[in-house]
Amino acid sequence: MPHMRDHLADNLNRVQSEIAAACRRAGRLPSEVKLVAVTKYAELTEVRRLTELGVVDLGESRPQQLSERADQLSAGVQWHFIGHLQRNKVKPVLSHAVLIHSVDSLRLLERISAVAEEMSLRPRVLLEVNVSGETSKNGISNDELRSQWDVFQAVPNVEITGLMTMAPLVDDPETARPVFRQLRLLRDELTIRSLSHVKLTELSMGMSGDFAIAIEEGATLIRIGSRLFASP
Ligand SMILES: *Cc1c(COP(=O)(O)O)cnc(C)c1O
Repeated sequence: MPHMRDHLADNLNRVQSEIAAACRRAGRLPSEVKLVAVTKYAELTEVRRLTELGVVDLGESRPQQLSERADQLSAGVQWHFIGHLQRNKVKPVLSHAVLIHSVDSLRLLERISAVAEEMSLRPRVLLEVNVSGETSKNGISNDELRSQWDVFQAVPNVEITGLMTMAPLVDDPETARPVFRQLRLLRDELTIRSLSHVKLTELSMGMSGDFAIAIEEGATLIRIGSRLFASP
């Protein structure tokens, strides 16, 4: 199906040039920003085509679909888990994901730690922060993370490598800028108070509508779905 490949290639080219432009504006290198293709609404055939075009980091938000797709598509691919994770679904996600972006409570982190120990794993995770404070959003509040940071970073069997956030969905992406900036400042603040083995290098922020602004504000992982898979 060459048409499918063409529109995916076009979408990818446009996204990649917008990534490059945002990096230029911010004085950053494109190699500092990893594109995670969010595949939750895409057909498997499309996902496969995208990997043939060189996108090897893929994100799913439901454990069931992650497991199925990781079984179908694994060679050379790195799966990221980006959705709300229930405590009883930790095991399958740990079996498949290289990074969990969405650890949204201390309880969940402790559960991941316990399951990781059973599986002899040391998974990489990001803590999801509800920067905007919207009650509809998952995530740890800025204040809770500040006050509990010593408890979070002492949890064993996990490697906390950064923070993640979702900006409010609004028409003007500039509205997201202060949210992204606050996540970066919170990361900087926690870094000063981090144990020597904890390195908060990753900021997972920015989606189809606001990734350019997230890159300007320091994103190292951007999670893009609809812009990549949209039909022409
Ligand atoms: C769906 C989803 C995305 C991608 O959203 P798009 O607007 O389609 O790019 C990114 N992050 C999370 C957590 C998601 O659930």
